[in-house]
Amino acid sequence: MEIRVIPDEILRMKTKKMKDISEADKKLFEDMFTLMKENEVEGVGLAAPQVGVPRRFVVIELDDFREVLINPQWEPMGKEKDEDIEGCLSVPGVYGPVERFKKIRVSFTDALGEKRTLKLDGLLARVVQHETDHLDGILFIDKITDWDRIEVLPLALRYPGVVDLLKEHEK
Ligand SMILES: [Zn+2]
Repeated sequence: MEIRVIPDEILRMKTKKMKDISEADKKLFEDMFTLMKENEVEGVGLAAPQVGVPRRFVVIELDDFREVLINPQWEPMGKEKDEDIEGCLSVPGVYGPVERFKKIRVSFTDALGEKRTLKLDGLLARVVQHETDHLDGILFIDKITDWDRIEVLPLALRYPGVVDLLKEHEK
């Protein structure tokens, strides 16, 4: 299993809803947590299409929060948005400002098959919005508010798809 990087087409696919959780799926969840944490640049969230699986779930590990969100659906709580710098393991080395809702309510099925609803704000709310976008083929680079304010790490240049992206947005 490896992390798919742009322009891999699976990153642009709409994923299929999950109906049940098999033992193989549970193994996959744990493998994804490991992959995310052992990556060159550690991630806090990983969506199934990012490992080549076009199904509707994401894993998130941020501080004490460690969850698998299966078929997640969120809605904003209030209209307030804020902007922060995001990055993505599928667009290595690129960081840019993205606007997201500040507070959300998310419903999902967890790794044990329980239906859950959580109210989230701040970074965790942002991560859920970013990861859920992946399930609809949407990437944070589609939502960068200002390409003049992006930051690029040298490792980005090892990925031809990322180099092409940066060229597209060059002045
Ligand atoms: Zn991402």
